[in-house]
Amino acid sequence: MRENFRKNARRAPTPVAPRFDSAQAACYAPRHAPETAQNYHLGDSYGGAARACGPAGLDRPGRRADRAGGSGSQPDRDAAPQAQPHPTGDRHAPPTSGANPAPDRDTCRAHESPTPTPTETPGPTPDRTARNVRVPILMYHYVSTPPEGSDNYRVGLSVTPDQFREQMRYLEANGYHAVTLDDVIYALAQGRALPPKPVVLTFDDGYRDAYENAFPILQEFGLIGTFFVVTGWIDEQNPDYLSWAQAREMVEAGMRIEPHSKSHPDLRDKPHDYIVYEVVGAIESIEAHTGYRPRFFCYPAGAFDDNLVAALPEFGLWGAVTTQQGTRHYSDQPYLMKRVRISSDTTLAQFASFLEWGSEGDE
Ligand SMILES: [Zn+2]
Repeated sequence: MRENFRKNARRAPTPVAPRFDSAQAACYAPRHAPETAQNYHLGDSYGGAARACGPAGLDRPGRRADRAGGSGSQPDRDAAPQAQPHPTGDRHAPPTSGANPAPDRDTCRAHESPTPTPTETPGPTPDRTARNVRVPILMYHYVSTPPEGSDNYRVGLSVTPDQFREQMRYLEANGYHAVTLDDVIYALAQGRALPPKPVVLTFDDGYRDAYENAFPILQEFGLIGTFFVVTGWIDEQNPDYLSWAQAREMVEAGMRIEPHSKSHPDLRDKPHDYIVYEVVGAIESIEAHTGYRPRFFCYPAGAFDDNLVAALPEFGLWGAVTTQQGTRHYSDQPYLMKRVRISSDTTLAQFASFLEWGSEGDE
């Protein structure tokens, strides 16, 4: 259907000067963030501990049944749950100096198969035309009912499965088309037409409820979701988060699994090798476990600086999403795409208005 839209639809994007938001999301401190790059090496998705055991390779999932387990009460690291606009405070704890733990996981599992051949897919070549497109990129976190006693962060960042289904039903009933971030980039870089009423559905942090709740509801409506996962948390086999088997199943069903780093650190003001470890490491883990070569990055805690943004193209990434609020994207800023936060108190009327946000130049 999308191809038909592409053939039939015409679009004439109007060049507009890029704009920036300065707001950064609040965030919890990461759990296992190494603070120096000295123990990490380029391009090894399994980190220092894996190197100690030999070359890294595939650890194909599917060897065990997935454990049962609901979404946990792990607080989100990205943002406080307040309604838009989100707060500008930063809850990151300052980095601890000198801490440099090896990633904690069973690394020798990684040696059952040979190292995968890189399958990087080049992004669209920009035609040097300045464009912008308005596409709401919805940002979800938990899709589950918070457990009893959950804190305000867990509650605020959660939509219930019923709430989520109602929102997906609204998209279907009102002619929205879930596209991928690929489609947005092609529209920006080459002017490729998008279907009418395009929307992108993104989910941060890779909570277990992405598989248990969001995934089946998306399938119910034939929608594609993009899930930004923290690969170190999957490696730890924490039942609050996706397993690799689940991630692979989602990829095989057409969903996108994209990197949100290895350990969810604040990546601002970090050495290049550290950025490589966190970003390329996550990319390679996803590719090794799911067969999908990631194309987009999601900044942990929404935090980025010029150095980080400038590094992403060399990793083969096509673009990146922020936690800045907005719906309009610019051809010269594919690594600074804005999103629209959906939270527990988002009513269906607000959801509808978010989808229209920016269409009247009111962004
Ligand atoms: Zn996050």
